[in-house]
Amino acid sequence: MKGKRGLIMGLANDKSIAWGIARACAEAGAELAFSYQGDALKKRVEPLAKQLGSDIVLPCDVSDMDSVDALFDSLKEHWDGLDFVVHAIGFSDKGELRGRYVDTTRDNFTMTMDISVYSFTAVVQRAEKMMKPGGSCLTMTYYGAERVMPHYNVMGVAKAALEASVRYLAEDLGKDGIRVNAISAGPIKTLAASGIGDFRYIMKWNEYNSPLRRNVTIEDVGKSALYLLSDLGSGVTGETHHVDAGYHVVGMKAVDAPDI
Ligand code: NAD
Repeated sequence: MKGKRGLIMGLANDKSIAWGIARACAEAGAELAFSYQGDALKKRVEPLAKQLGSDIVLPCDVSDMDSVDALFDSLKEHWDGLDFVVHAIGFSDKGELRGRYVDTTRDNFTMTMDISVYSFTAVVQRAEKMMKPGGSCLTMTYYGAERVMPHYNVMGVAKAALEASVRYLAEDLGKDGIRVNAISAGPIKTLAASGIGDFRYIMKWNEYNSPLRRNVTIEDVGKSALYLLSDLGSGVTGETHHVDAGYHVVGMKAVDAPDI
């Protein structure tokens, strides 16, 4: 990744998936810039960015298109080009990440879709203008897009739309040699995940029933992201790549799995 420049969006703290990806990219020699949501996160993101040798730390709330424009305008003042972008952003009212999907409100449905789905398209739209052939865009999804998972509700619907938009974006940008992919990560204890009902139970279930008999870490996700963001993934686009200890291939509870 030496000589490559990448924007990391969605870093909240050192538990964030964005942190695992940023570290893997920095260790491989990439130069990084970071965006953060709101002043409260600025003081957390700045020292983390510094640890990876970056002093480009810019505000961006993806629910506001002026803010997304301002992010890319500022980035252009620092860099004349961009090789990769990581979008590790999702949000929904946690009151609706428990109970029944059927009870989802229209306001939360549109807000969840806006922040968790449209924002990736908005980011790619702007990133594309700074990218040359070889550019790579990556977002984060979850198996709740493909199968019903307890409490994931409207986020599952949003992730399904996000995965579909990855395919459409891949077709649009492929003609210019720019790739667009998603990683479908297994459950990881982060700030965002703590809003999901019974998350500890979901983690245990995955640990006991996935082929690798463990949960994945942000380091696991970081290594796979490095492959998709670097030239190692040069032939891969429009893909949703599972980094979930194999959980998505399993059809039923493992015979040796303890009862939980
Ligand atoms: P996290 O809480 O560390 O990161 C979520 C980030 O989204 C935060 O940095 C937050 O500031 C940002 N964000 C939310 N609303 C925003 C807005 N309006 N503007 C800008 N930023 C905004 O949690 P995480 O688990 O690292 O989440 C990263 C991504 O990974 C999310 O898309 C999440 O759905 C996805 N994911 C998480 C898991 C998991 O189990 N943790 C599994 C699969 C996919």
